[in-house]
Amino acid sequence: MTVTSSNVPSIALHDGEHIPQLGFGVFQVPPQDTADVTTRALLAGYRHIDTAKAYNNEAGVGQAVHAADLQREDVYITTKCWNSDQGHDQAKRALRGSLERLEMRHVDLYLIHWPAPAQDRYLDTWKAFIELQQEGLTRSIGVSNFQESHLERIIAETGVVPVVNQIELHPYLQQAGLRREHAERGIVTEAWSPLAQGAVLDDPVIVDIAQAHGVTPGQAVIRWHLQLGNVVFPKSATQSRIEENFDVFGFTLTDDEMARIEGLDRGRRTGPDPDRFS
Ligand code: NDP
Repeated sequence: MTVTSSNVPSIALHDGEHIPQLGFGVFQVPPQDTADVTTRALLAGYRHIDTAKAYNNEAGVGQAVHAADLQREDVYITTKCWNSDQGHDQAKRALRGSLERLEMRHVDLYLIHWPAPAQDRYLDTWKAFIELQQEGLTRSIGVSNFQESHLERIIAETGVVPVVNQIELHPYLQQAGLRREHAERGIVTEAWSPLAQGAVLDDPVIVDIAQAHGVTPGQAVIRWHLQLGNVVFPKSATQSRIEENFDVFGFTLTDDEMARIEGLDRGRRTGPDPDRFS
């Protein structure tokens, strides 16, 4: 298989590693379709795949990467530790399981999927993550769905700052407070459900801005994320959208357009509340 090269910008992480700013998410891609869908994303130029044990499709991601005409270091792979695998020993076993399914010796980024505060195991899990990085099984370690109090606790207890926090973020949930907190601590913001699973795409402001640039609403929203500095990985199983979502480097939103999208914030989640989900 021949794969096109990619000109996606890289963002520096505080541990010295770099992450491609635009990637491809595979949440809700059925396991039996994942190798094919991921192959199509790699062919379109994506070099960053976001998966998780809980998506039940790590094996398909690994198959696509190994079948591609690429070196392992050319593709950035993120996976996540699921809530039922939290705790020191469990988390260490969980990454080894993910690596077996991916058929890889390491991932680039390993995330605690949710803080699950009712279990109160995320601090022990974070301590295990620090060891997993030292053992070379993951290049970088980060978290997902952490609120300020969870970040504060793991940093205060270990002195190790996660390189990213992957949070729900889109025009209807802009997370200004957490983004400010991340910036102060040198944490990169990753935006999950960047299109709010499609819910923002018929918003009249988004449609208007997209029309002004001759692009689709999806492209306008992905461009907004990139200009905010977010790492973003839209999911699509549709060939035309896989390509369209990657074609976002030929136009720039104006300050006025960025401000109009900022005005759409309404604190509306599509997913669970991280303080309650376990
Ligand atoms: P997205 O916001 O990426 O939206 C995906 C949906 O939008 C799909 O239904 C897709 O349809 C559709 N779509 C994609 N592109 C377009 C387009 N250009 N125009 C119109 N519709 C479009 O949602 P996700 O929830 O999948 O989030 C992206 C990734 O974020 C996930 O895949 C996962 O990697 C990560 N994530 C992480 C979470 C966490 O807790 N850490 C939670 C949720 C997601 P179709 O496929 O039919 O084309």
